[in-house]
Amino acid sequence: MSSALHQVPKAADLQTPDLQTAKMMGAVVFQGVGKRSFEQKPKPQIQLATDAVVKITKTTICGTDLHILKGDVPSVSKGRILGHEGIGVIDSVGSAVSFFKPGDLVLISCITSCGKCEFCKKGMYSHCEQGGWILGNKIDGTQAEYVRIPFADTSLHKIPDEIDTDSMVLLSDVLPTAYECGVLNGHVQPGDQVAIVGAGPIGLASLMTVQFFSPTDVFVVDTDDSRLETAKSLGATAIINSQKQNAVERILQLTEGQGVQAAIEAVGIPDTFDICQKVVASGGSIANVGVHGKSVELHLEDLWSKNITIKTRLVDTETTPLLMKTIKAGMLEPSPLITHHFSLQEAMSAYETFESSGKKHALKVIMMNK
Ligand code: ZN
Ligand code: ZN
Repeated sequence: MSSALHQVPKAADLQTPDLQTAKMMGAVVFQGVGKRSFEQKPKPQIQLATDAVVKITKTTICGTDLHILKGDVPSVSKGRILGHEGIGVIDSVGSAVSFFKPGDLVLISCITSCGKCEFCKKGMYSHCEQGGWILGNKIDGTQAEYVRIPFADTSLHKIPDEIDTDSMVLLSDVLPTAYECGVLNGHVQPGDQVAIVGAGPIGLASLMTVQFFSPTDVFVVDTDDSRLETAKSLGATAIINSQKQNAVERILQLTEGQGVQAAIEAVGIPDTFDICQKVVASGGSIANVGVHGKSVELHLEDLWSKNITIKTRLVDTETTPLLMKTIKAGMLEPSPLITHHFSLQEAMSAYETFESSGKKHALKVIMMNK
């Protein structure tokens, strides 16, 4: 099976090129390992009848973009426009797009889904045969004035009126990732004790969304005191700086030696996974959210008899509508995750801030396109 990503659009599917053919726009471009630039690129156009072109109003930088810049994601080629998160206004739609029209304010999901393949039918949009995580990876992304969104009807969400649009940007990736890969995979139940290892945007978003299930305790582990303080203000019942104290000993002490029912790994390195496997209680779950580039040591000699579950997952974003409702209803208030605002033209400064997040106390940085 050839992927539609590599298919040449059929003539009948193509829209008549408009006068904007030569229009240029500003965009953040991957220039090979360690190199990025803000430069002029051609404005994208509708290529297939199911496409929409969205004028970006707000976008953000993800830890994944930094992985790309480090060279960890070989599928991203030089010249690619980065970014897979953002909101915007529909600029144009292909003839087969029925749910959106120019002028609609939309949330762009980091996961593109055709809605028709076997994986999409199961709700596993992340594994969509023609989509999945392609934005800012296999096709040009959202850190630009405009972006082309394939399968617009099934990959965009309408944004309700009178809602904080900064919070909506967090619905592209951070909140559904934390909720689906962390909280739901951790099988958190009322009264549970939970450990979240990592207090970056994903760990903190896990801390926010785990509250839906009324855990009695949420212990947050990190090496950055400022992030831990934020965790405390967002409801962590104990914060543990793993550089200053032994996180495993501390969590076992806090749980009277039992460990936690859910250990959420939100970093993606062997040390943080190791904390999770040492603090999970019998019958508990390890939910891995971190992107791992290195193998970890799995201690089955300790775990084989403990009835535990280890779950991994790519975000499918099938909970995005649910999370949007909770924000609209005031049950979820994710704005503390946003620490900085820049204009899109200041994208290189935004990257510098995000790259030195420890020093700058940065969590999510919003880039605005006027
Ligand atoms: Zn992201
Ligand atoms: Zn699909």
